[in-house]
Amino acid sequence: MPKLTIDDLHLKGKNVLLRVDFNVPLDEHHNITDDLRIRESLPSIQKIIREGGRAILCSHLGRPKGKPKFEFSLAPVAKHLTNLLGHPVMYITDCIGPQVDQVKQTLKNGEVLLLENLRFHKEEEENDREFARQLAARCDLYVNDAFGSAHRAHASTEGVTHFFKQNAAGYLMQKELQYLGEALENPQRPFVAILGGAKISGKIDVIENLLGKTDALLIGGGMIFTFFKAHGWEIGKSLLEADRLDMAKEILKRAQGGKTRLELPVDVLIADKFEAGAKTRTVGVHEIPGDWIGVDIGPKSIGAFKEILSSAKTVVWNGPMGVFEIEDFAKGTEAIARSLAEITQKGATTIVGGGDSAAAVKKFNLEDKITHVSTGGGASLEFLEGKVLPGVAALTEK
Ligand code: AMP
Repeated sequence: MPKLTIDDLHLKGKNVLLRVDFNVPLDEHHNITDDLRIRESLPSIQKIIREGGRAILCSHLGRPKGKPKFEFSLAPVAKHLTNLLGHPVMYITDCIGPQVDQVKQTLKNGEVLLLENLRFHKEEEENDREFARQLAARCDLYVNDAFGSAHRAHASTEGVTHFFKQNAAGYLMQKELQYLGEALENPQRPFVAILGGAKISGKIDVIENLLGKTDALLIGGGMIFTFFKAHGWEIGKSLLEADRLDMAKEILKRAQGGKTRLELPVDVLIADKFEAGAKTRTVGVHEIPGDWIGVDIGPKSIGAFKEILSSAKTVVWNGPMGVFEIEDFAKGTEAIARSLAEITQKGATTIVGGGDSAAAVKKFNLEDKITHVSTGGGASLEFLEGKVLPGVAALTEK
């Protein structure tokens, strides 16, 4: 069902509560180390300014657990946003209360106000009705641009929508839903998904949802070892989820003769220690010695995965192929990221789920060469699982 978007709203002279995702990483000096989420929210903010609306921005940052904590203040974001926008951003030290209401009432057309971290109040995550009411107070319209928080039914993503007649998607939200939604509902084929990361348990619902939908499902990362064990192979000291062996067996069985080609690596990089500088070797998947650890996919697997990707028209990627944080174990992840950049140039649509695969794309400087890098790790994962995101469901239907 299509949702109302920011383009459907009359913004002039209106107080617009804009839920953004400014949950950005900060270093120990409170400097923002990655501002992708802030930059991605600019089009919606600029639209409100341009049309003479009054933008009231709210977001969470980190996990302050319901109490004001200096290190999770959005004050540095207000400064950074001012620079990015080239337009003043007012900042207030709370997100609800009489003082906030007063500032909301005195805003002029085209002004921007950033409220303090929503999670300084425990009521935000509890989706408390009264807190949501206070957040919505003195506001006329609601726009949600925080895709990264849309999988949570919190006061600022769900509760607040009950106090507005019009709840619309911002441009970033629209973009995320468009890319991820089209990939799942109407992909150009061949449609290939690449799944990696640490554990099967975190990705099982995605695998289940994508089996049958995709033409090929390429699996890497730590989860391959539980699959190998399910085949009865030795995996040395590699990551094993013993309680997921039956699940892995079931997936392997389901994939047989199915529409989706399930591809596991044929070789792996193994290390004698789980750390930089460890001794490494490449071995076939049946040949992992007892005290070694699988840390990346091997060169033959990289070649096979690249071959499948070369003809793909739509690709979704979630989860690194190996322990990419350690340089020596990052080749598989880097090769996949580069392969995605190459096929994007040839016209394929490539989508990278947030979290670690987005971090990998950034690490290899390929952000601009991928069709869409999602700003939401958990949210994109739940979307790929086929779940309805509460923050999206709560938006007004057209
Ligand atoms: P996830 O959050 O489930 O996507 O997992 C990401 C993490 O998986 C990264 O921190 C990787 O270092 C880790 N990972 C990838 N491959 C392996 C592996 N072979 N063994 C252990 N951890 C891995």
